[in-house]
Amino acid sequence: MLLVCWDIDRTLIDAAGVDKQAWLQACSDISGRRITQLPVGTSGRTDPQILLDILTSAGILTPDAAAFLPAVLEREAVILASHRDQLARKGKALPGAREALAALADEPGVLQTVVTGNVRPNAELKLAAFDLDRHLDLDLGGYGSDSPDRATLIGLARQRTSTAHRLPIQSIKIVVVGDSPRDIDAARAARARSVGVATGRSSIDELAAAGGDAVLEDLTDTDSVYAAILGRRLQRG
Ligand SMILES: [Mg+2]
Repeated sequence: MLLVCWDIDRTLIDAAGVDKQAWLQACSDISGRRITQLPVGTSGRTDPQILLDILTSAGILTPDAAAFLPAVLEREAVILASHRDQLARKGKALPGAREALAALADEPGVLQTVVTGNVRPNAELKLAAFDLDRHLDLDLGGYGSDSPDRATLIGLARQRTSTAHRLPIQSIKIVVVGDSPRDIDAARAARARSVGVATGRSSIDELAAAGGDAVLEDLTDTDSVYAAILGRRLQRG
């Protein structure tokens, strides 16, 4: 069994910053301070890591920020849900994402889910907003609401797949598809293969240098996506 673990932001979708506004508003609402400063380099980090960074950068002491964090993570889901229309209007599915998911759905022995820094409700909302959820089994995924550590999330996806499909854990091979060197680092730590897609902040060379087992400019050529993820070409006709 091959489990394909897709990253969401800048791999499958572009949220056009609507999610970042939800981070700031959630941190402001729960801390009672007006917080406007986003951290740099959020790509590939999980929401608990990012939100803790936002709180401490606003001058909140780490123990207090950590105490706020569970409520902030809940609050960001409420806020993003209230901005769903704005997300759908401003954001987009990245080119080829829908076709790649649909094509892999027909491949025997392949399951698809997400490993993402988003809390689960926001992951579901983002995918549904762009009609990308139909070929993903989201119950198998790993989310920022599960752990701040991305490699742990990959292990959780493996565990959840083993339980749901009654498969020995060592029989589940994983390919992580993501736009950030952090996706690739996490895959290596979780003993998974990785495919880097240069639709985020990192170039194809940076993703290759990070150790991506395969790298793609984007998802537009389904044959190339197949070759990268499965290590072989799409059978035609
Ligand atoms: Mg990403």
